Amino acid sequence: MAADRRVTLKSRAQIEQMALAGALVAQVLDRLAGEVKPGVTTLALDALAEEMIRSAGAVPSFIGVPGRLAPYRHTLCISVDDEIVHGVPGPRRIRDGQIVSIDAGAIVDGWHGDAARTFIVGEVPDATRRLVAATEQAMYAGIAAAQPGAFLADISGAIEDTARAYGYGVIRAFVGHGIGTEMHEEPQVTNYRTGSRGRRIEPGLCLAIEPMFTLGGHEVRIRNDGWTVITADGSLAAHWENTIAVTADGPRILTSSPASESVAATAGATTGATASATTAAAASAEALPAR
Ligand code: MG
Repeated sequence: MAADRRVTLKSRAQIEQMALAGALVAQVLDRLAGEVKPGVTTLALDALAEEMIRSAGAVPSFIGVPGRLAPYRHTLCISVDDEIVHGVPGPRRIRDGQIVSIDAGAIVDGWHGDAARTFIVGEVPDATRRLVAATEQAMYAGIAAAQPGAFLADISGAIEDTARAYGYGVIRAFVGHGIGTEMHEEPQVTNYRTGSRGRRIEPGLCLAIEPMFTLGGHEVRIRNDGWTVITADGSLAAHWENTIAVTADGPRILTSSPASESVAATAGATTGATASATTAAAASAEALPAR
């Protein structure tokens, strides 16, 4: 396929460079996990993330990305409740009972890392907690499917199956993507089956895998700010993303934090699973309440 010509496979050395960017993004999200609480403004979270990235000698990936009205000016996208992705930081304050999806990207020596997590603030209904957990679980299922010799559709199918099991809406207008010296490279990684099996997965392929699920439908609207993507039906949305590199041994998560690795290690000890993506998926699945 013509589009495949733009897919770049990364060398081991290049993957190690991407791992540096990924580690920084993970550090930022780890730090934000402790700061996402009632009363904090989304702009304060953004300032903290920018400070962390710049003081590491890196550059925020999202600043300057062209938009409908103007280039993006922030380090983070912070999407609250029915906002799916691309929420713009501002003076509004986080409140108890909200879900807050934070997407962060950083460039280290020309290489990008990109990751997102949905944080739960205080008490939320079980249905909301389940949505957030299932979206994370779907991300790990998609990552576990990113094996050499498999196809992109295997990633998409693993994610879609997780959503279907819970009856969640799967966002179609925004998808995962290749990543490297550009934040968005080919190929696209849909979170649903398209009817085509897509490109074969091979070592050196680096992807941002990022399911976006809703408690309602898949249709989206864009706010007048030209950025914020919201659910058309007002339903809650969750978003999880990791940057991975496909290696001969399977997927390697480049944006995993030491904290999530220890969770994966614990799960591995229990389940006997070996690949980190698989163990993380197992941990996620175990944490998930019965539907
Ligand atoms: Mg992304």
